[in-house]
Amino acid sequence: MTLSNGRPYLAIPGPSVMPEAVLRAMHRGAPNIYEGELIDMMPALMGDLKRVARTEHHATIYISNGHGAWEAALANTIAPGDTVLVPATGRFGHGWAEIARTLGVQVDLLDFGKRAPVDVDRLEQALRADTGHKIKAVLATHVDTSSSVLNDIPAIRAAMDAAGHPALLMADCIASLACDRFEMDAWGVDVMVAASQKGLMVPPGLGFVFFNDKAAQARAGLARVSHYWDWTARANPDLFYQYFGGTAPTHHLYGLRAALDMIHGEGMPAIWARHDCLARAIWAACEVWGQGGPLELNVADPVHRSRAVTALRIGAPHGSDLRRWVQDKAGVTLGIGLGMAEPGDPAWHGFFRMGHMGHVNAHMVLGMLAAVQAGLTALDIPHGTGALQAATAVIAEA
Ligand SMILES: *Cc1c(COP(=O)(O)O)cnc(C)c1O
Repeated sequence: MTLSNGRPYLAIPGPSVMPEAVLRAMHRGAPNIYEGELIDMMPALMGDLKRVARTEHHATIYISNGHGAWEAALANTIAPGDTVLVPATGRFGHGWAEIARTLGVQVDLLDFGKRAPVDVDRLEQALRADTGHKIKAVLATHVDTSSSVLNDIPAIRAAMDAAGHPALLMADCIASLACDRFEMDAWGVDVMVAASQKGLMVPPGLGFVFFNDKAAQARAGLARVSHYWDWTARANPDLFYQYFGGTAPTHHLYGLRAALDMIHGEGMPAIWARHDCLARAIWAACEVWGQGGPLELNVADPVHRSRAVTALRIGAPHGSDLRRWVQDKAGVTLGIGLGMAEPGDPAWHGFFRMGHMGHVNAHMVLGMLAAVQAGLTALDIPHGTGALQAATAVIAEA
């Protein structure tokens, strides 16, 4: 017998659950790309996108995943031979650094491991030591999706200001946007990258780069930016195709329009509060399970935990066994552990992640937690008792 028939739930940190409204908006024939609705909706769409980023500056859309947005941000601001400083708190920090290296950029890496946030004192020291201002940008990851570490972007800004360093502050908000609170302008972020398939609830395929005038000046100072990655015309197009450097991602735009309507209908502060409450319910359950067994939250201090994704350690082979059980028996797909051990190493099976970003509500989170509870019991993995009570108490208090 299987109990997994019914609606499956992809509780992984992206791609996330797509709302019916997004799917319905995309289910249509090819639209006119010369005139009419699609062209007319662009100014409001770009404005509503900026409201999610909390910026009044510039926004661009690339037909790409998050890796493309990473490359776009660097291609417009950093020349080959320039230096960037990367404070890494998990796999995704290293990923952005790799993109920079392949563009011929020198990477100064500050590695804070897989469980801790950026130490802003060390960051400030590194910036103070750069008396010649060789570092052109700090590439910060707001939420590192592999470790589920949440970094304090205002504290990073403050460290840069305290060091009197003129580098650009870039933030990767691919996992966190529309989940964890983020304020591009108020927090002094110069460039921010995001993608469609996480908190924004749209299928993978759109990369977003937001930038301010300081970053635009960096672009103006570059000798050459490839036509496709150049953000200049995309941010300020004379013609519709220039938004995208070619044919528009027609159906994704309709999906994004529907998602933005949902986001602004709920309101950004309410979205942050929903993700906060659901995350606290998950942490409460995990803490109780951990009191009687090997399960452990990867990030010890709740202040440094993402509200979009939770990374867990449970020891091999329990992580893979549990993922298999909840998927096959209960129809819930959990995320693999990413970057915690090499694939092929038996230790790799000791990690997993819960995605709780975007179109997620209390019953989905409680159902996912209850499926994990059943899996722990069925697999005889030792665990504390009372996890579901702890989670429901958080929800009941909301
Ligand atoms: C998902 C993610 C990426 C990579 O995005 P892709 O769409 O897979 O290229 C980069 N950074 C963070 C923080 C992410 O969560």
